[in-house]
Amino acid sequence: MVKETKLYDVLGVSPTATEQELKKAYKTGALKFHPDKNAHNPAAEEKFKEISHAYEILSDSQKRAIYDQYGEAGLEGGAGGGGMAAEDLFAQFFGGGGGFGGMFGGGMPNRGPPKARTIHHTHKVSLEDIYRGKISKLALQRSIICPKCEGRGGKEGAVKRCGGCDGHGMKTMMRQMGPMIQRFQTVCPDCNGEGEIINNKDRCKNCNGKKTVVDRKVLHVHVDRGVKSGTKVEFRGEGDQAPGIQAGDVVFEIEQKPHSRFVRKDDDLLYKAEIELVTALAGGTLYIEHLDDRWLSIDILPGEAIAPDAIKMVRGQGMPSYRHHDFGNLYIQFSVKFPEKHWMQDEAGFEALRKLLPEPTLPPTPPDAMTEPADLEDIETAAQAKVFGGGSGGGAMDEDDEDGHPHAERVQCASQ
Ligand SMILES: [Zn+2]
Ligand SMILES: [Zn+2]
Repeated sequence: MVKETKLYDVLGVSPTATEQELKKAYKTGALKFHPDKNAHNPAAEEKFKEISHAYEILSDSQKRAIYDQYGEAGLEGGAGGGGMAAEDLFAQFFGGGGGFGGMFGGGMPNRGPPKARTIHHTHKVSLEDIYRGKISKLALQRSIICPKCEGRGGKEGAVKRCGGCDGHGMKTMMRQMGPMIQRFQTVCPDCNGEGEIINNKDRCKNCNGKKTVVDRKVLHVHVDRGVKSGTKVEFRGEGDQAPGIQAGDVVFEIEQKPHSRFVRKDDDLLYKAEIELVTALAGGTLYIEHLDDRWLSIDILPGEAIAPDAIKMVRGQGMPSYRHHDFGNLYIQFSVKFPEKHWMQDEAGFEALRKLLPEPTLPPTPPDAMTEPADLEDIETAAQAKVFGGGSGGGAMDEDDEDGHPHAERVQCASQ
């Protein structure tokens, strides 16, 4: 039984939530209420801070244990106070500055030798780049063991174990709460939870005693021809370093950006083309700009009679298939542009058309039907047209505006 559930409620999870569930709840909430997305909205800002505060505590197994047992009162001594600013937590979670050495979440239960957290980054790539394949040079900010002091934090022999907490970094304290004496664990105030004390004069100047420094590393990410969205490219041991643990990994997830002309479906491409009525009936040429500077010139034969929404295929003009020497197909969905109203006034012209076009074949009314003359009117607005799902113009397709992905500052494109 936990003493109170307020922090769990803020994140919308139950007190039995796993680390993964907490992470997910924080991620969703932080993205939704982040001040960048909620300008001039104090309520959202407040919520963002609350979510961050709750996550900061619950994601730390030690703080969580204190909270579960004593509620927020138990944290006030030190562990809960002096918390991180909401923005810093956000930046750290989504890969921000390197100061914390990626050691966030401290005592995570882990099998095997302890290892620094994996740095995840989504690498957005254009469809053109996936079509051709490329190598992206991505610069990464990571923590490395300070080369000057080799991760000791100071001169050899100058780093002493903290006497206040016996090197544990945490300390049991007592406090009078009304008639009760409460025992609670808090971050050791003598060493700020480091477990070690270094005299100022012996402190390493390069890392300021932190043992790690921020380093910029350029990684070459191979974007293979035809690679699928969601493919992960891993760099083992290229992530954060910290004393006494294994260096973390870096994982890039390839994400294809939406394209303005093509929709990709596995190895196939879909293209929406608008052609004139005269082309649909009498033939002509359709030009499509491909993904590699070529323009396909596609003959529409006279008499092809392409109907609106007809789909045709051009074989082998889709995406290269990943690690095969093969290509998908290009599917073209046609919309047919009709002439404007009153495009022809001349009765003789219509007569000629009637002679040229096939005779109407739609069935007439039954012979015994009662008929009543009725007039056809134009409708004014697009809104009216939409009632019946009409009014979609065809032509260019919507370009999905990506949203919900924070711009992780930690990895940038160094060069293209
Ligand atoms: Zn201490
Ligand atoms: Zn150093």
